Amino acid sequence: MKPIELIRKYNVPGPRYTSYPTVPFWKENAIKASDWLASLENEQAFNPQSTLGLYVHLPYCESLCTFCGCHKRITKNHAVELPYVESVLQEWALYQPTLQPDTEIVELHLGGGTPTFFSPETLTKLIEGIFQLKNINREKCDLSFEAHPNSTTHTQLETLYKLGFRRVSFGIQDYNPVVQKAINRIQTFEQVQLVHQIAKEIGYTSINHDLVYGLPFQDLSGFQMTIEKTIALKPERIALYGYAHVPWVKGTGQRGYDENNLPKDAHKRELYEMAYELLLNAGYIAIGMDHFALPGDTLEVAFQKKELHRNFMGYTHRQTDVMIGLGMSAISDTWRAFAQNEKSVEAYQEQISKGELAIFRGHFLNNEELLIRRHILDLMCHFETQWHSELLKEGFYQQIQERLAPLAKDGLIEIDTTHLRITNTGFAFVRNVCMAFDLDLHGHHFDKPIFSATI
Ligand code: SF4
Repeated sequence: MKPIELIRKYNVPGPRYTSYPTVPFWKENAIKASDWLASLENEQAFNPQSTLGLYVHLPYCESLCTFCGCHKRITKNHAVELPYVESVLQEWALYQPTLQPDTEIVELHLGGGTPTFFSPETLTKLIEGIFQLKNINREKCDLSFEAHPNSTTHTQLETLYKLGFRRVSFGIQDYNPVVQKAINRIQTFEQVQLVHQIAKEIGYTSINHDLVYGLPFQDLSGFQMTIEKTIALKPERIALYGYAHVPWVKGTGQRGYDENNLPKDAHKRELYEMAYELLLNAGYIAIGMDHFALPGDTLEVAFQKKELHRNFMGYTHRQTDVMIGLGMSAISDTWRAFAQNEKSVEAYQEQISKGELAIFRGHFLNNEELLIRRHILDLMCHFETQWHSELLKEGFYQQIQERLAPLAKDGLIEIDTTHLRITNTGFAFVRNVCMAFDLDLHGHHFDKPIFSATI
């Protein structure tokens, strides 16, 4: 089958698999805070040496980028900073009685929203407050944050560096002014260059640039310029995400342009492939579905050693046993259970002020789901998986094989008695391969669209 025919056939709505089961299949009120804490306690009793990752969601942004699918709150009122951080620290305090004294925080990530919306003083209060309650070896812990080039100051970068942060991720998306206008995110190359250089001079050892393909009005020459400018700054990591067009999802604000302005199907894929060639020629190594890293970066080393992991933030070189998400909409994960916080700032803060965790939905995984989760993670991180068919309930394995058969026939995967491997042709269709394993997706009817297209 020609590449264009494969794209037409397989470009269907599907999950991104940052979790399995995927979030739309978790039930509201299915998990109480007490159950969640019990699950966390069990996980640590089961594995006393368990390592802990922390994610802190900082939701505020000064203006709305119209391509954004994150949980955010737009405001120019910085008086919201302190009460929000106080809620996060209260939430963290609620976790302390459940956490083992020896549990080590090995990873801390500030995401958003825009973490650099917050002043250096408020960020210091947040980080010192977190570490006050739990000992941490700042040399060993991986601290990172997301930054908006327009709102990142020298003082913020210096403050976070002194607090132990060594990795920063800048949201770039595209340098073409036409695209920037359409997505309401105007930032020049010179602004990015300046903030990138300041971060380097201060001593940050890993800088990531986030780019997005498939945005409105993107074309090959404009996006080539974006990739070339990015390469000129040589960030250690580049994330090249496909734009997920989901205007039906509440709060995305993806209404500033028309569907017809979006590059689609083969055209969208061409943008990715052009970028892929340029990045590889510049010495980057392709990692997973949408990440690139320079040789020697921790992500690249983990990829080569087959130690890559994927969580709600994307690919990571660290696999933590427990991930606790703090803040509005943040997700926590013990491998056997997920829990998500309330998605509005008010509901989150109200619950925390009562001295209760603000969990509104989640999921406990059964044995089949744990097995499928492992398969999907292996496919996403290593492009192969090993069969454990004897562990699946009768019938499930056969259903998966039946769904995989057309993909094998089209040359996207190779299957033998022990393994499934995704072929070079199949790299673009990893999400489709994972969908064949998804026990929830098939036979389920949604009343409204849920997922973005896979290509
Ligand atoms: S892309 Fe980032 S800065 Fe823009 S609205 Fe979304 S979270 Fe805020």
